[in-house]
Parts: sequence; C-alpha cells; structure tokens
Amino acid sequence: MSEEIKGRISVETENIFPIIKKWLYSEKDIFLRELVSNASDAISKLRKISLNEEFDGGTDYRIDIDFDQTARTLTIEDNGIGMTEEEVRKYINQIAFSGAEEFVKKYQGEGEKPEIIGHFGLGFYSSFMVSAKVRIETKSYRKGSVGVVWESESGTEFTLKTEEKESRGTKIVLFLDPDSGEYLDAWKLKELVRKYCDFLPVSIFVKGEQANKKNPLWSAAPSSLKKEDYEEFYRYLFPFAGEPLFHVHLNVDYPFRLQGILYFPKLRHELDANRMGIKLYCNHVFVSDEAKELVPQFLTVLQGTLDIPDLPLNVSRSYLQNDPLVKKISAHIVKKVADKIQEEFKKDSEAFRKNWDEISLFVKYGLMTDEKFYEAAKDLVFFRSSNDELIRLEDYVLRNQEKNLGKIYYANETELSSVYMDLLKTQGLEAILVDSRIDNHFLQFLESKNPDWKFQRVDSELAEQTLDKDSSPGLADADNKTEADRIQEIFGKAVGREGLEIRSEALKSEEVPAVILLPEHLRRLAEMGQIYGQKSNDLLRNHTLLVNRRSKLVRNLLNLSKGLRPERAEKIAKSVYDMALLGAKLLGEDEVSAMLRRERELLEELSEG
Ligand code: ADP
Ligand code: MG
Repeated sequence: MSEEIKGRISVETENIFPIIKKWLYSEKDIFLRELVSNASDAISKLRKISLNEEFDGGTDYRIDIDFDQTARTLTIEDNGIGMTEEEVRKYINQIAFSGAEEFVKKYQGEGEKPEIIGHFGLGFYSSFMVSAKVRIETKSYRKGSVGVVWESESGTEFTLKTEEKESRGTKIVLFLDPDSGEYLDAWKLKELVRKYCDFLPVSIFVKGEQANKKNPLWSAAPSSLKKEDYEEFYRYLFPFAGEPLFHVHLNVDYPFRLQGILYFPKLRHELDANRMGIKLYCNHVFVSDEAKELVPQFLTVLQGTLDIPDLPLNVSRSYLQNDPLVKKISAHIVKKVADKIQEEFKKDSEAFRKNWDEISLFVKYGLMTDEKFYEAAKDLVFFRSSNDELIRLEDYVLRNQEKNLGKIYYANETELSSVYMDLLKTQGLEAILVDSRIDNHFLQFLESKNPDWKFQRVDSELAEQTLDKDSSPGLADADNKTEADRIQEIFGKAVGREGLEIRSEALKSEEVPAVILLPEHLRRLAEMGQIYGQKSNDLLRNHTLLVNRRSKLVRNLLNLSKGLRPERAEKIAKSVYDMALLGAKLLGEDEVSAMLRRERELLEELSEG
C-alpha cells in the first residue's frame, strides 16, 4: 500500500463561472436584489456590532442607488460594515465563501440571531450578468482602515489596490454591458426596489428618493397588532382585492423559522388555484410570487406573505419540491390554517356561518385533497338545509339519524320546490341543499370517509315515510288482475318503451300521480360520464316510473280503462308520464313538441265535453 495523499480539489473559475451564472439566475433583474441585500447585510452587521463597539461615521444608515447615463455606470452604495483588503480577498475572491455565514456563526452564541440575508457566497457574482466591468470601493468601519479598490472585467481575474476613501462602507460600481442599458432608468430601478426590497430594514434611495417603505408586518409580534393593521397591510399588498375574511399570523422559531401572514379572500365565485396570492420572502427579501411548491394546492388560493429565512434566495422549484424543511413547513401551515378556521367558528359561530359561502369551496377542496387538513377540519362542513338554516353536516346526521334510516337526503338548490321535496317535507323530513360543482365529488368523498353515511338525492328513491304501507295493492277484478297489473298494462302500453320499469305504490299524498326515480348509482355514473364528455341519455333512460295508485288521477284512469274509453286512458297515461319527466327535468328538448301536441289533443277532447 502506498502512502495516503491528501489534497484540495480545485475549480477552474473560467469553466464553473458560466454555469453558476446560468444555473442560479434565470432572471437578469435579480442582480440588484443581490447587491442591495449585501448592502443591507453590511448595515445589519454594523448595527449588531454597534451594541458593543464604537466607530466613526454615525448610525444614519442608508443605501443609495444612482446611475450615470453617459458613463453607463450604476452604483449601489452603503454605509455599512465595509471590508478590509484581507476581507475582500477572503469574501469576494473566493466564490461560494460567504462572509454572511461566518458572521452568523460568530454571533450565534449571543442569543438572538442577526437577520442576515446572505448565505451561500454567490450573490455578488450575479453583477456580472449585466456588467462589462465591476468595481468595489470599500472601507472597513474599523478605526485606521484604508480604502480598498477591487476591479474585475470577467469575474475570473481581478486587480486590487488601496486608495483613499472618505467614508466607511462599500460602493459597488457596475459598468453596464451594452445589453443592460435598461437599468439606467430611475423608474425601472424604483420598481425593482419595490418588488424585491420593499421590506428591508433600511431606507433605500434611488437618485436621492426613497423607494422602499414598508415595515414587514409579519415580523411584528401578533399581540402588538390590531385588526386594522392587518387589513391595512392587506390593502397595501393587494390593492384591488377587497376586504379579506380573516387571517392567520404565522410566527415560528423552532424547529424551523417561519413568519408570515395569510389572508382568506372571498372565494364565492372562483377557485382559481393558479392565482399567485402568496409572496415568498427570505429574510424580508422578495423571492417569488409562486408558493405553489411550498404549500398544498388548496392553500394557494390564500393571499399574503411567507418569510422563510432558511431558504436560499435563488431557490428553485425542484429544490422546494424535494426539501424536507419545505415539507415540514407546509404541514405546519396546513395545521395553522385549519386551527384558524376552527377558532373562527368557536369565537363566533354566527359570523362564521355568514362567511361560510365565501370559504366553503376552499374548505371542501382542502378536505378532499389534504389528509392533514381533513383531520383538523372535518367537523366544519356546513350545508343549507331544506328548512332554510345553515346546519353542520354532523348535526344534520345526528338530528335525522333515526328518521332517515341512515340516509342523508340531498337536493340541488333548484329542486327546492320539486315534487320530491314536497313529499319529504310533508313527512317532516329534511334534505341538505348542494349547489356547487364541487359537491358531486365532495359527497362521494364524505361517503368514502364515513362508511355509515349514504347520500341519496331526493329523486333517486322515495323515503319510506312517504309511502302508505297499509294500503293493499288493490283487489283482483273480473279479469283476475290486480290494480298493479292494470297500471303496468296501461302505462306500459301508453309509454311504449321497452325496459321502462313501472312500479305502482300507494303514496300518502293523493295529489302526486307519478314520479320518476333515478337510481343514485346510475345518476352518478351518468354525471361522471358527462365530465368525460359522454352523452348521458342512455343511462338516464334507465329510470323507474313510480305510479301512485292512491292519486285521484290514477284512480280515474283505472276506471276509464275498464270503461269505454281505453284510448283516452292511454293518452292521459302518456301525459302523466310526460309530467313526471318534466318534474324530474328529464324531458328532452325534442320530446317537448310531441308532448305539446298530446296536451293540445287532450284539451280539445276535454273542451268537447
Ligand atoms: P453572501 O451574501 O451569500 O454571503 P455574496 O456573494 O453576495 O454572498 O457576498 C459575499 C460576501 O462578500 C458577503 O458575505 C460579505 O462578507 C461580502 N460583501 C459583499 N457585499 C458587501 C458589502 N456591500 N459590504 C460588506 N461586505 C460585503
Ligand atoms: Mg449576498
């Protein structure tokens, strides 16, 4: 065995540099974010140091952005900590060596962590995305320091010299390349500052005018804030969004750091999961409008801010998707949101009910798509009942358990005045009203979670209570046929359709001659088919015609058929079927004209007396 050799792997800057540029920064604009956040870090560090040390130059901290159109230079200047020659060599000349990291480590022992943005020691080099040459003029805050000037045209070779510099701090001069003239524009620069650096803890001036302004409300202690503060902040973030319903203030230090405020917007009409309502920040620096990979999809309808200091500024989508920290954060947010909804309900259930229409889509979608949210919020499902009250589904189930024999009746809003509903209501039964498109899926979902629950639309089967079970099926007549047989005969002939199931029953109501029943599973199949663009007619034709032999009309019909006018009986029977179809909204458009013709003929006969 030969002797072991130890060594250091070397990197050829010329080769790695283009990769870093391309890989890290897809957007040119972010060079400004990087340089301003470095300047802000330089000031944060000095603030921290000022607690223990004295230095010249005062504590009126600021960052100045300026440009010169003729010289085509852009400068970013701060009066922060500055760098000595040694520090320039260490922090600037070594790519991926972060002075920020070093600083945080050094001060970590002293309780609170300084809020430093830098992390990976790569940000500074983004300046070469827009520059033909970059110059750093810097002077350390330490007494007796001299100015240092560093220059580089490629990012791979540099010159370094000492030069007189009047004041403490760092000035970065970018000699913009021919493609980057757009940054010689105050409006553009202000816009970028507002977008990325609005919430930095130091004033930033563009050509002498302050361009950032806001306190990051999410960093304030929740106990120090009033409802109005949150609302004002919402209006600042989303000027055209109207009033939010309520908000969640996230404020975690351990086991990860997370701060933010999430607002519930009114969502009555849309559930646009592609909206970009959550702004992602890293130590107050804006990172992205896309929180998609950070929170489960149903939460992307919320609006607000999330600040996660431990994410890298140049965070990528695939990074977010796979990072275990992100998974933990995501689960935490889900839990907090669910808790908030619970809390709102407990605090004022009346107010909560008033808001239910606005958040129901959100809650239902969340329950269906997120297991954790389901566990935390499953008892917060409300429906309007046919008694016109908003009732918690669990309460509805409890209240109707015995009466409904294990079934949960439901109807579309438009069926509120249907014959089916009338039949239920006269027996003191109630149904829940469903209206949104999401409910089709939602009810199936609830059934899968609660095997005891059986949702049954009011037109799929009549409740036993509406039937008169004491009524005998009718005596056999001279031809030895029962009433049920007769009804089969008359309606079978009149409708003339193979396979139509005709059932005779005695309803407690004498008014309703017949209703169409559409078995629950068949209708659901048809609805599924519709989603996939299938024609549902064939399935829907598999309905049952339930004829009420106690109704006056049917009784008359039975008599007529025995008498001299069987053809009239047939016409009436056909009309009864039409009406039943109409009541079930199953009468096809092409069947309407045939029905009108028959009705006219019937009326003609009637008018002849
Ligand atoms: P990071 O900010 O992630 O540490 P950068 O490449 O942006 O990486 O910067 C590298 C280091 O250079 C910083 O950590 C800091 O020590 C030093 N530096 C950069 N800009 C300044 C500045 N304006 N004032 C003082 N030091 C700076
Ligand atoms: Mg940096």
